[in-house]
Amino acid sequence: MKITEVRVIHLRLPVVNDRADATQDALIVKVETDAGITGIGQVDASPIACMGAIVAPMSWTLARGLRECVLGEDPMERERLWHRMYEGSIYYGRRGVAIEAMSGIDLALWDIAGKALNVPAYKLAGGGFHKRIRAYSSFLWGDTPEESAQAASQFIAQGFTACKFGWNNWGKDWARDEAQLAAVREAVGPSVDIMVDAGLGYPDAKSAIQMARRLEKYNPYWFEEPLRPDDYDGYAKIAAATSLRVAAGEEETSRLSYLDLMDRGNVDVVQLDVCRVGGLTEALKIGWLAYDRGRLVINHSYSTDINHAAALHFLACMPHTQVLEFCVEPSPLLTELVRNPLKAVDGYVAVPEEPGLGIELNESVVERYRVPA
Ligand SMILES: [Mg+2]
Repeated sequence: MKITEVRVIHLRLPVVNDRADATQDALIVKVETDAGITGIGQVDASPIACMGAIVAPMSWTLARGLRECVLGEDPMERERLWHRMYEGSIYYGRRGVAIEAMSGIDLALWDIAGKALNVPAYKLAGGGFHKRIRAYSSFLWGDTPEESAQAASQFIAQGFTACKFGWNNWGKDWARDEAQLAAVREAVGPSVDIMVDAGLGYPDAKSAIQMARRLEKYNPYWFEEPLRPDDYDGYAKIAAATSLRVAAGEEETSRLSYLDLMDRGNVDVVQLDVCRVGGLTEALKIGWLAYDRGRLVINHSYSTDINHAAALHFLACMPHTQVLEFCVEPSPLLTELVRNPLKAVDGYVAVPEEPGLGIELNESVVERYRVPA
């Protein structure tokens, strides 16, 4: 089998607002083969920036577009093609946009291989630790504690046993932030897990430590991204000073950055987005590095059901995962993009059993939101 084409599809809602909500656009990647099998992948970053990395013509040996790196190659040789893309983009890549863009192609290759062999991607990877994973509803903080509490009650009524709230000015008013968490705890009771996503809300480790201590009495499951992602030493200080689990990682790309996050930042919960870190091929490596260090590994997913499906295949290969981030934004790019949307049932989401990633694009929705090339 040979790769015959790599296509990029930019989707965007008619109105995109300046809020911490990545369900407003998406970059879909399709990899076509001479066997008639097409693989689907996704990148969750800046679509236009990542499209550039994929379609760029070669500048010189180490500055190639990713499409050219895989055209004519055997899609079953995922590991080799990952390395080929990494080396081909090394002059502008290694982290960030190029690795993020590689995720879309890598995921499409897993989809192709699964379809060719008639097995789900997690089995192709040798996983199967979980058939379903407990999901937490993931949503933004309301503008008031009452709004957040009301949303939390709705999620629990839908069967979720864990919920996360994040961003939306968290960190700007500490009394209001504490009232937000207090209101959610009051609404859901003591047995529901609540994740607090601080959305890079603090200027320094001392501020975050003071706030973590104020939040400890509400027993949140973890305290996520209190600092900007490059402040690894700050993360280590917070991890040492609070009883709360410290979570981070959604901005990291490539396993080398995760080594810094774990070995220097000492975080308790390693979060990775399969559509950002270099695809399932790289996610599996990061997940095992976390296992070796005794850290929990959790997905980051706040975009589409392609992302959710990819995350489920990844987590199904990880014995030490605990929960699935399950975005509950009402965006049509999340709720309508695939014909077989993922659903939380009694607070759990089943790992797809269909071949490959197990998702089927709803092409009419793709056409509705497609940005003309
Ligand atoms: Mg987050």
